[in-house]
Amino acid sequence: MLEVFDNKFTSQESILNEKIIPCIEAFHHEQLKSIQELTSKIIDSAKNYKTKNPFEKLIHEYDLSSKEGVVLMCLAEALLRIPDNQTIDDLIEDKIPSGKWKDHISNQKDLFVNISSIAFMFSGKIVERSEDHQSIFHNLLKQMSEPVLRSAIKQGINILAKQFVFDQNIQQANHRAQQWPDTRYSFSFDMLGEAALTYIDAERYYQSYKEAILATAIDNSKGNSVSIKISALYPRYERNKLDACMKELLPKIISLVALAQEHKVDICLDAEEADRLNLSLILIEKLFEQKILSEEYKGFGLAVQAYQKRAGNVIQYLNTITLKYQRKINIRLVKGAYWDTEIKLAQELGVEDYPVFTKKFLTDLNYLYCAHLLHQSDYIFPQFATHNAFSIAYITQLFSDKPYEFQKLHGMGDEIYSYFDKQPNFRCRVYAPVGGYNDLLPYLVRRLLENGANTSFIHQLKKGGKTQEELIQSPLDKINQIKNIEIPKPIDIFQPDRLNSKGTDFSEEKVIHQYSQEIKNYKNKASSLVEGIEHPSSNYLPIYKPYANEELIGEVSFANQTTVLQALEALTAYSSIWKNTAIEERTQIIEQFADQLELHTHELVYLCAIEAGKTYKDGIADIREAVDFCRYYAHQAKLLFTKKILPGPTGELNELQIKGKGLSLVISPWNFPVAIFVGQLVANLVCGNVTIAKPAEQTSLIAFHVFKLLLKAGLPPQASSLLLGKGEDICPPILHHPSLENVVFTGSLETAKIIQGQLLRQNKIVNLIAETGGLNCLISDSSALTEHVVRDVIISSFNSAGQRCSACRILCLEENIYKKTITMLKGALDCLAIGDPTHLSTDVASVIDQAAFNKIKNHIKKFNNFYQSPGELPNAGYFIKPTIIEIGSLQDVSEEIFGPVLHVVSYRSSNLKKLCEDINQLGYGLTLGIHSRIDHTINTVINTCSVGNIYVNRNIVGAVVGAQPFGGQGLSGTGPKAGGPHYLSRLCHEYSVSNNTTAMGGNATLLTNLSE
Ligand SMILES: Cc1cc2nc3c(=O)[nH]c(=O)nc-3n(C[C@H](O)[C@H](O)[C@H](O)COP(=O)(O)OP(=O)(O)OC[C@H]3O[C@@H](n4cnc5c(N)ncnc54)[C@H](O)[C@@H]3O)c2cc1C
Repeated sequence: MLEVFDNKFTSQESILNEKIIPCIEAFHHEQLKSIQELTSKIIDSAKNYKTKNPFEKLIHEYDLSSKEGVVLMCLAEALLRIPDNQTIDDLIEDKIPSGKWKDHISNQKDLFVNISSIAFMFSGKIVERSEDHQSIFHNLLKQMSEPVLRSAIKQGINILAKQFVFDQNIQQANHRAQQWPDTRYSFSFDMLGEAALTYIDAERYYQSYKEAILATAIDNSKGNSVSIKISALYPRYERNKLDACMKELLPKIISLVALAQEHKVDICLDAEEADRLNLSLILIEKLFEQKILSEEYKGFGLAVQAYQKRAGNVIQYLNTITLKYQRKINIRLVKGAYWDTEIKLAQELGVEDYPVFTKKFLTDLNYLYCAHLLHQSDYIFPQFATHNAFSIAYITQLFSDKPYEFQKLHGMGDEIYSYFDKQPNFRCRVYAPVGGYNDLLPYLVRRLLENGANTSFIHQLKKGGKTQEELIQSPLDKINQIKNIEIPKPIDIFQPDRLNSKGTDFSEEKVIHQYSQEIKNYKNKASSLVEGIEHPSSNYLPIYKPYANEELIGEVSFANQTTVLQALEALTAYSSIWKNTAIEERTQIIEQFADQLELHTHELVYLCAIEAGKTYKDGIADIREAVDFCRYYAHQAKLLFTKKILPGPTGELNELQIKGKGLSLVISPWNFPVAIFVGQLVANLVCGNVTIAKPAEQTSLIAFHVFKLLLKAGLPPQASSLLLGKGEDICPPILHHPSLENVVFTGSLETAKIIQGQLLRQNKIVNLIAETGGLNCLISDSSALTEHVVRDVIISSFNSAGQRCSACRILCLEENIYKKTITMLKGALDCLAIGDPTHLSTDVASVIDQAAFNKIKNHIKKFNNFYQSPGELPNAGYFIKPTIIEIGSLQDVSEEIFGPVLHVVSYRSSNLKKLCEDINQLGYGLTLGIHSRIDHTINTVINTCSVGNIYVNRNIVGAVVGAQPFGGQGLSGTGPKAGGPHYLSRLCHEYSVSNNTTAMGGNATLLTNLSE
């Protein structure tokens, strides 16, 4: 079992050389000729296959390799679920005119395809935006045609949906399957819908699976089966929720298995994302352990994804337990449907490698390797779900002596399997999606991606322009391509500039084990550091956990005025040395600091949890951001500090140089106790500014610990001082000091203004960079997918207990989706676990302190219409239940409430522009989100709202250094953006040096460089 769990990122080379090749080589060598002959026949048959289904032809015409295919997918994805006609019209108007429909009309094409293309072409002309077509006639035509058009296009999309959906309900689906004329085919019903977000949705899906099993049992001479997505049965099907899954999800799986067993219906658990694999195997092992499966029942099955590097181990593991418990099961071998998601997730997470192969031929080879493993098993009945002719031919050859079945998707693969039309022994099961077209989206998107991807066999067969030789080529003959790097490792995505920060994958067993261990030996006493020496004052103050406020975690001694003055003196004395230290040396220290932070991630994460109440996931993100700041600013500094030669008349040399300014003061908040503290500090240090770091008093332990690492990384102790304490005690003498050049502050608007006021007393103009809060809004129109909106709002509003400057404070919902979205939001709120941040299962911990607690509580009290989930909070600690407050207008919220509180307001789609203007009127301008499928709506929001960071169709938190630089405008801050290309130059002086090179004896360069 452990091997399955711990090899998620094994290198693909080693799997190829140590597992795949030794296993398949001999058979491959012996059988290749006949496999290729069969592949060729399958391909010929597919090429000659004339679909009787005109809709299939339409889909092939408009696959995702064409812009129009993408347009149709966008329409199909959104149109059927939009409740209001206005938004439907907007969507059609947005998408259809952008296609070149004319290019799809030709004599060679099917009549239905041509008629459809002509229809799309005219639709496009009718709905083109009237700004471009002012004629009365055009507008008249448009008005007359819109309702007709709307229903025609809706009809068209329904047809598209029908291609992929077997039937609208399980009874009809079962009936249709029973009537299927070809008896060699059976069906596996998949109840449409994806991961449940709420307990209510999960219960609905659970009931629909029960209904599906019972309906299938009524008349099941064909041996039809039911496919089950575990993520639909439980809203938190995640490895870090293992205990809850055991308690609440496992009984549901057991009851479905028992029902299926009782009614002799086969079931198959679909394979989902890679980070759910371990959990799924833990759950499945329980079925065996608890002896749920009877000896007679051979209908339990699960899907295994061959694109995952662990697939072979999973099969070997299943082999072992089936043997151990003497139970027979089915395995549906697929290649996998979430490849692009896996690649993106791994890059975002910064993990060491990908859980999936990054070469298509390796996925193909692993599929064959897994087939060999299945061939060796006596307890597993293999089911091969593929539309790839070579894979099919290989399996046919390999399993000539053993029973198995093929599987294909409804609406796909008919041509590929047409070769077997006349073969009596052929067995194939059709994966048949059942449900309303409204639930079609995620399924449809996966299928269309599969059809359209360049690497997909089906695509290559139809559109890829591959020769027959290429199509029948064995994946084993492509292994010399393994060294071609097309997708860099997650750690290298920012290369050659810098390394990505290392992430932590909390779905991995060894990580879970590591983070479950208690941390010992961290220093839990902090004081200020001047010239590297601790400067405790006479008394120490106790520090308690914010989530268990009677538990002492350390002590802090705040700096007194003498220490502040000592720091100022030491830094001023060292300023010119640091300013003139070579840039290479400064950047090297900052890069070494990044390495130190990574080396000490575990203890820092622990400190962030106990002192700031950050969950482990939030802690990791905080440290990664700090590491990214170090590497990014080091790289930026190398560019910035390179002398630039400027153009000018001959005989002179014009150079632009950059230098640090002198003394900086950086004041950072407690909510990102590592990232913001480090970011502001290293930006100044790398520029050559001697710097005083004044972290928030609430997170002194963390700051002390981090600062020590900076010294360990090699920073000369005279270059920076850490001053712990309250801003009002520590900052005034610094703000008034004549050497002060820069102040970088992140915190409240109120404090920023106080600092600004104090700086006015300076004789000179001191540079102030301030990042303050925001009243951040997320707008969703009715074309957005509710599940998607809810997922992103929950992350944006409640991660880090809402204590992020970027957090979503106000959700603006188009009135037609208001009720549905609010209901789902409340349901999703009920699924959040509130508690101790050192538990991996915790989603929301406490807020930072008593003052924050009081302020948030008082704010909630002002409203009548608010929702909090039932249930008790932990006794001790500043816990606030995540809260949703329904408000009448934006004006009901006048100030930023820094906690887990979301306000929700509705708006009318015709008032979108006004809504954006009202958002501007709030005066803040930090983050903003828009969820919509309509480009015109997205652009209206982008062009009207004055905010620093706009996020489209995603959550609005989690800025990424260098990729999504962060910072606002108006009441939200001064800019430049942290983690952006303009940050460092604000902290430096520029020098221009112009040298008359002719002064010492004429213009030698001009004269010597001339040709005859
Ligand atoms: C009956 C049935 C049930 C299914 N159930 C599931 C399920 O439970 N879970 C699930 O995830 N999928 C499931 N699928 C979808 C299945 O994964 C895809 O249909 C399948 O991947 C297509 O494989 P192929 O052999 O037909 O196509 P091919 O075109 O030969 O292969 C496509 C595969 O290659 C992968 N690939 C593409 N580019 C690369 C690359 N650069 N590096 C590595 N790999 C690459 C793709 O991600 C995909 O997995 C099911 C399919 C069927 C037919």
